[in-house]
Amino acid sequence: MVTVLKNSKKKTLENEKSHVESPDRRRTLSMLRNIGVAAHIDAGKTTVTERILFYTGRLYRTGEVHEGTAKMDWMAQEQERGITITSAATTCFWREHQINIVDTPGHVDFTAEVERSLRVLDGVIAVFCAVGGVQSQTETIWRQANRYRVPGIAFINKMDRQGADFEKTIIEIKQKLGASPIQIQLPIGSAENFSGVVDLIEMKTLEFDPSEQGARIITKPIPTNMAAAAEHARLNLIEAVADVDEGLLDAFLESHDISPEDLRAGLRRAVLQRKLLPVLCGSALKNMAIQPLLDAVVNYLPAPSDIPPAEGRDLKTVETIAIETGDSEPLSALAFKVMSDPFMGRMVFVRVYSGTLRKGQVIFNPRIGKRERPGRLLEMHADEHVDVDALYSGEIGVLTGVKELSTGDTICTEHRKFVFEQIRFPEPVVAMAIEPKTQADRDPMLEALQGVCDEDPSFRVSKDPDTGQTIINGMGELHLEIIVDRLLRENKVRANVGTPMVAYRETISGTSAASHVFEREIGSKRHYAEVSVEVSPRDRGVGNKIELNIPNHSLPREFQCAIQAGIEDALATGVLAGNPLIDILVRVESTEHDPTCSTEIAFRAASAMALREAASSAIPLLLEPVMAVDIVVPDEFVGDVIADINSRRGKVKDMQVDTSAQFIHAEVPLGELFGYATAIRSLTKGRASYSMEPVLFDTVPESVKDKILSR
Ligand code: GDP
Repeated sequence: MVTVLKNSKKKTLENEKSHVESPDRRRTLSMLRNIGVAAHIDAGKTTVTERILFYTGRLYRTGEVHEGTAKMDWMAQEQERGITITSAATTCFWREHQINIVDTPGHVDFTAEVERSLRVLDGVIAVFCAVGGVQSQTETIWRQANRYRVPGIAFINKMDRQGADFEKTIIEIKQKLGASPIQIQLPIGSAENFSGVVDLIEMKTLEFDPSEQGARIITKPIPTNMAAAAEHARLNLIEAVADVDEGLLDAFLESHDISPEDLRAGLRRAVLQRKLLPVLCGSALKNMAIQPLLDAVVNYLPAPSDIPPAEGRDLKTVETIAIETGDSEPLSALAFKVMSDPFMGRMVFVRVYSGTLRKGQVIFNPRIGKRERPGRLLEMHADEHVDVDALYSGEIGVLTGVKELSTGDTICTEHRKFVFEQIRFPEPVVAMAIEPKTQADRDPMLEALQGVCDEDPSFRVSKDPDTGQTIINGMGELHLEIIVDRLLRENKVRANVGTPMVAYRETISGTSAASHVFEREIGSKRHYAEVSVEVSPRDRGVGNKIELNIPNHSLPREFQCAIQAGIEDALATGVLAGNPLIDILVRVESTEHDPTCSTEIAFRAASAMALREAASSAIPLLLEPVMAVDIVVPDEFVGDVIADINSRRGKVKDMQVDTSAQFIHAEVPLGELFGYATAIRSLTKGRASYSMEPVLFDTVPESVKDKILSR
């Protein structure tokens, strides 16, 4: 059923409908969880995920990350570097429920990966380090999760480490993330004395037998010295739920004794509405308290039928439509990841939102207006692929044998053509030249680079307009390093790479218009077109917009496409130093054509030239990426670190003092940050740590601009 959304009330009502389910489903909708595990790098996301796979029976040996054997990190470089960079999806089972884990990378160079995985998740486990607390990348991921309104549960990991502080981490979750954390467990002891957790819902102690890798849970009464604290924490929990959930409030007012079932049900409702964030704790490394985390996934995170219908734009009526979950609805799915596998070929990860995708069925791709027939439908487990006959609404799986489907594409049927909202990908900030070793290496190199673009939308390939060199662009030095590594290692490409450079952008600060007449004899044929455009600045970060103010039918469709292409060509290489132009509104005001000699070539060239002329006289600006840098530094070095930030054209935005260290939050142009790791190490005798991520593109000051432009 298609519903046109008029207001949010309608959306809620629709959401209350029951969802039609096929009797052939492997699991009912209510027994499905699509989740992600999000964390700051090193907080223990990989270890937690790997332990989840162990306890759900998928892995029979736990692999340690530092040995490079954890199952989710299956790409060679990830194993070497100990980081997880791809959003592979993995299926496992717990208490009859199917849990699909979409891997969300922790490293900020890969925020685009996080963004796309959050899009297809229904719930998230946020892993925090009990020693490090809330770190900057967790804040970034949290902001992204907020944008997609993804409910979560928090797991405070590394309770076994010296300096672990459960209470302090919860305060930080409240203050830094603005979330409403509520403890549903208390840790028993900490650091080397951490021995288990108190379950505040069942009011009992859980310990995990180390001789069986924690697989055997020992249930005990609450230790007497913790009884009062546990009573107090349980009351807090009940009050917090009753505060936001009328069902529980009524029960609480009637009798102050709430049953575990009622408490879980009330907490579930509160989590689904994102009013509370249940907090659990444990130690993934020591195999402690992972099973209760899995219970919490089942108990509190949403099933696909619990979330509001996804929204799309009907291509016929241009109206926003609600995509109802249900197996007999028309098919709709989103391709969120493309990967090449040496054995399976091109694998496209999809989330089905409505309908049923059966084996052999033809799918429609509205982006290119083409049909395709997937070869196989697969469910992905960490160590095997399982062929299935159908993917039902709410499920995540993989299609093989599809050539055209790309990341972010909508899958639908020809009876209901619509598109989901595009997945947003951040602009690349670092560039690097890449050159084939010999002429014969050129084509394989370009082909391999095209393959990377296909898999990774935050990676782009461009050409230096002056030297003709191929330039690769990505989200950070590490991002590009890993890609180059893969090209050399997996694709056996022979190439040399340059040093990382800042990927500048250009924009305009004024409004201007220009017309260009293209009239030329090429071969023996005349080519003619005239295009007038106006350019004006848009808000920073919103992207470019092209508007064709051409009355319908006054210009043949192929010429309109040529104009669009010409403008896109010109936007790709700006007017100051050939950097892409961003945040510009381009209005095509008028066109002239001659049916006897107008051609697509002429329109493409005329619109590109008109745009360049207009942009040149609209006060062009050079923009540089600015990074948010978070530094933790002992008191005695604070002065030196701040002086160094100032010398790098940076601005200190915020400072917080802790007992032993200071937290400095600064914004610094990326161009001044290459080699920062070495600099801060020598400034602080190796005692500071820092992380950085792109925040915005800002105007390059005049004093620096000339230096950059003359390079
Ligand atoms: P990720 O970067 O978030 O995926 O973190 P990893 O799972 O790779 O863990 C980072 C490091 O912390 C590794 O050396 C792990 O062995 C270690 N680690 C993970 N969980 C725990 C834990 O509960 N306690 C302790 N002490 N170390 C842990």
